[in-house]
Amino acid sequence: MTRPARALIDVAALRHNLSRVRALAPASRVFAIVKANGYGHGLARVGRSLQEADGFGVACLEEALALREASIPQRILLLGGVFDPSELPLVDQHRLDVVVHDESQVEFLERARLHRPISVWLKIDTGMHRLGVHPASVPRLWQRLVECANVARPIRVLSHLANADRPQEQQTCSQLSCLLACAGGLATEISVANSAAILTRPGSHRDWVRPGIMLYGISPFPDSQGTQYDLRPAMTLMTQLIAVRRVEEGETIGYGGTWRCPQAMPVGVAAIGYGDGYPRHAPSGTAVLVNGKRVPLIGRISMDLITLDLRTQPHARPGDPVVLWGRGLPIEELAQRAGTIAYELVCRVASRVKFTEEA
Ligand SMILES: *Cc1c(COP(=O)(O)O)cnc(C)c1O
Repeated sequence: MTRPARALIDVAALRHNLSRVRALAPASRVFAIVKANGYGHGLARVGRSLQEADGFGVACLEEALALREASIPQRILLLGGVFDPSELPLVDQHRLDVVVHDESQVEFLERARLHRPISVWLKIDTGMHRLGVHPASVPRLWQRLVECANVARPIRVLSHLANADRPQEQQTCSQLSCLLACAGGLATEISVANSAAILTRPGSHRDWVRPGIMLYGISPFPDSQGTQYDLRPAMTLMTQLIAVRRVEEGETIGYGGTWRCPQAMPVGVAAIGYGDGYPRHAPSGTAVLVNGKRVPLIGRISMDLITLDLRTQPHARPGDPVVLWGRGLPIEELAQRAGTIAYELVCRVASRVKFTEEA
């Protein structure tokens, strides 16, 4: 038998989730955000599955080229722009859109020798203070872009929200009004909404929305689950039981002996661990599904294995299916228990896990 750890990708769920974005933001075009290997789901797979998207957003040139290699024809936006002027010929050759978030990138464009002008999105720092140009410098940099022969028309504007996942947060309003104040006079296309803003702030949708996490069926909010917004989980991480043991009362389980059996009981061992991307900080009591029913994890997570309390499933046997997250078991619940966010969990599924697709 080969190692049974698998990530099942539900292509129909990806499409469904994109249709949810369309329904929520009917007047906007959609950049499907597929950075970090399509949030761990497989870049080319997600690109091919989401042919209905108007464009794709990636973190770097390598990701954009991988999409072009997979024959993805849509607009592709480099969310961080180019890091070095030597990337611009490839941007030109593969017809990529670039973010300009710093004056140095305006200079790269001014100095480049290209076959045709490049589509540029000027990123404004409206309060997140990560990437983006200062609002006060927008008129000046805009003018330089307008005068640059290497920059295509229209030039567009974009910003990113720091607190859209906290709907009560005032900062989102001030970021949006800052953006409109900066971009209002420029009469161009605007993009600002991530998943959280798509779900809660129709006023932020503007010309282009940029959903990431919701496309994968996951809630962007810390206290809710994707299914509450009619999203469907696109990834189910599964494996199998490889042993069922009987352990005596008072004996401890696994490294450090952190869990002690209160009675003689069946203990299941499943082939998954932090070496596959399952979070090592998931505590005893975290739920997994065995044969579709919840059972608690017990003891520490190892690199290749986890141990399970099978008292509610005394008949479980090696080979029985185990689900770690996805269909039937919200990843958001595990993320919360393990002190992380679902974004990190899906991004960190290891390459030794076999990916399979389901239409
Ligand atoms: C990652 C990212 C998004 C998508 O964010 P989600 O919370 O996953 O929807 C949108 N815009 C930018 C600039 C990003 O980096």
